[in-house]
Amino acid sequence: METKRKLFILFITIFTLFAAAIMINAALNFRSYSYKSAIDKAHMAAELVRDGLTAHMINDMMDGREYFLDMMSSSKGVKKLWIVRSDLVNKQYGQGLSNEMPRDEIDNEVLESGKEIDRFYEDLDNAVLRVTIPYTATSKGKIDCLQCHKAKEGDVLGAISLEFDISDLRAEGLQTLGKIALITIVFIILSMIAIKYTVSPYILFFKRLEASLKRAKYGDFSLKVPTDIKSSDISAIAKRYNELIDKFNKTVGKIEKKLAIFLKGSTGYCEDPLEKATHTIDMLSDIHRFKNTIELDTDVDQIYMRLASVIEEIASPEAIAIFDVDSDRNSRRVVYSSKGENPCRAATLEDAQLCRAYRTKSSVFSDMYPQICPGYGSTYKFYYCISYDVSQSRSVVIMMLANDKERINICKKEETVLMYYLENSKPVIESKILMQKLKERSLRDGLTGLYNRKFLEETIETINRQGSRQKTRYAVMMLDIDNFKMINDTYGHDIGDTFIKLLVETINHETRSSDIAARYGGEEFVVLLHEAKPKGALNVAEKIRKLFSKIPVSVGETKITATVSIGVSFYPEETESLREAIKYADIALYKAKKSGRNRVVLFKEELPEEAQQRDLLTYDFEDSAPK
Ligand code: GH3
Ligand code: MG
Ligand code: MG
Repeated sequence: METKRKLFILFITIFTLFAAAIMINAALNFRSYSYKSAIDKAHMAAELVRDGLTAHMINDMMDGREYFLDMMSSSKGVKKLWIVRSDLVNKQYGQGLSNEMPRDEIDNEVLESGKEIDRFYEDLDNAVLRVTIPYTATSKGKIDCLQCHKAKEGDVLGAISLEFDISDLRAEGLQTLGKIALITIVFIILSMIAIKYTVSPYILFFKRLEASLKRAKYGDFSLKVPTDIKSSDISAIAKRYNELIDKFNKTVGKIEKKLAIFLKGSTGYCEDPLEKATHTIDMLSDIHRFKNTIELDTDVDQIYMRLASVIEEIASPEAIAIFDVDSDRNSRRVVYSSKGENPCRAATLEDAQLCRAYRTKSSVFSDMYPQICPGYGSTYKFYYCISYDVSQSRSVVIMMLANDKERINICKKEETVLMYYLENSKPVIESKILMQKLKERSLRDGLTGLYNRKFLEETIETINRQGSRQKTRYAVMMLDIDNFKMINDTYGHDIGDTFIKLLVETINHETRSSDIAARYGGEEFVVLLHEAKPKGALNVAEKIRKLFSKIPVSVGETKITATVSIGVSFYPEETESLREAIKYADIALYKAKKSGRNRVVLFKEELPEEAQQRDLLTYDFEDSAPK
């Protein structure tokens, strides 16, 4: 209910109750006053009658008492008057007049008890008070009753009954009550007018305040409250309130604008700007923490793992997969898959075009068309994929999966937040990629692009650290171009370099991606053939040898070819140490050189001691190479 109406009802009720209380009180007072005055009058009349009758008795004029009583009963206000004689008096003086007999029960009762009875009779037209007063014998007053009456002190001699018409008094009382009611109504009306003028501004103030607060709840701090209120304290409150919302208006606006800069325009989906600001600040602080954490991560893969746990926390899909697309390396890898499987058919960079999100650089949602992405290869009903370019050549594809539509919808809704994470992580990811590239570059040979000796050293360490049960088997090949010094000296270094590159091309052609090839020094190479058996390894070595020997290099008008010698050993069959296995391959290579070059030789323990004594890893290839 409106405050104004409430106040109105409250005041009306209070005033009405107040007026009713006054009127009831007045009515009761008036009634008791009229009642009392009638009784007083009755007592007075009773005394007069008694005195009159006594006077009649003393003067022996009792026969004329009827006239006296008639005179008395015609007094003003007296409706009826009669007296009754007790049996005591009748016994002494004989039966009285016929109208001096008890007329009703009240007369009898009073004669019997000697106690006064007052009764009030009232209907719509009349109001009558009946008073019956006993006359008791006494010797103590101005008249000694016992002188004439044969009675004892206190005996009832008779009684007088009087009926008074008090209708006029009642009418007067009602009139007074009417006047009081009228005055009350006038008072209520005047009070209402006064209230209207004094309370209305307050009510208006509260109304506006409520409206302003309602708007403020949804971030609109523009509605002010009126300050031109006649009450100084309310006007002061209004002024302070207006100052406050003014401040809010300016501050919230500023905060919103600043947060929008951080988050590129949008600051979440709450309606209330304060809530929105809190939400955004929370998000910024989470992103900041995330950024700080990933800065200390070792590589991009670790960052993506962390990103996966953020996605799980924010969007909570049923499964997640993260793909790293590297156009430099020509690869598309599953970096993380919460269920361990690859939910995408796009496994290589060529396949990456199958990935709709990567191809279109936009989000892909399967709600409308389940087959929207041709690369999708999982059993989950719904998928939501996001592609994001972290650098010129690297992109990350995030795939969120769910069977429950509601859950996938949450993923869609949280895309903006995930994008903020990616956006803010981008510089860190870029620097990690750069560092990775630099590190890789330091492990690669500039001329051939093959891994260098440093990389091989690290690989040897890693492989050696593997427990014996999980040890990977390798066939170790050591390759050295024959008479390379002579080629350099005769045709120049450029031609030498060309042969080096051609040998690397041949090696790459004949080996698999799981094999490791490294330039060991000058024109020497080490190749670790992954899980290769002796026959297979020899085949590869032989193929390389043959192929290389047939590749011609044009030198002016003529074409020349070169040959390569290859030593082969096996790890861990021949030795538990990969380093030693390389040494064995070198021993075999030495044998190949010794036995005429352009050949493949398997390591055998019975090789000449001279060969076995070569300290491979401190070997100076330029000076100590066997001729
Ligand atoms: P062998 O058949 O016994 O191996 O004889 P070789 O002449 O090949 O002997 P050696 O292995 O000692 O020769 C290595 C030569 O390779 C010495 C060095 O000048 C040359 N060399 C080392 N690195 C490079 C390079 O990057 N480019 C070129 N063109 N030559 C290199
Ligand atoms: Mg050589
Ligand atoms: Mg050499």
